[in-house]
Amino acid sequence: MPRRTAFEPRFVEFVPELVEEGVLYISIEYATVVHKCYCGCGNQVVTPLAPVFWELTFDGEAVSLFPSVGSWGFPCRSHYWIVRNRVVESWPWSDDEIAYARGLDARGRREYFGRRWEREVKRDAAGADDEAPE
Ligand SMILES: [Zn+2]
Repeated sequence: MPRRTAFEPRFVEFVPELVEEGVLYISIEYATVVHKCYCGCGNQVVTPLAPVFWELTFDGEAVSLFPSVGSWGFPCRSHYWIVRNRVVESWPWSDDEIAYARGLDARGRREYFGRRWEREVKRDAAGADDEAPE
């Protein structure tokens, strides 16, 4: 199955039982975002919104999730960013990298992932046709 390159954000109160491929369900009420892994494996990825987990940005048209999404619990071990609805692929992490990132506190995570964001997402945006963020 081809890997997905973008998601369609959908603001909902409750995430439906049947999660559609390609839709990013966003429940502000329950501070959570749910989608199916971009690789097509069918696994459901839940990203809670909280200072120690993920943060969601909505600019009126598109959404971004920070930090990246890592499906470490699934066989595919997909790792990607969602930036203005678009998927930016990242490399699969080693067990060491996963353990390290998991062990960081909220501030450490922000710094660690911020550096990766600079490297991966900004580089990708620079090479893309649409305008670079900021
Ligand atoms: Zn997957």
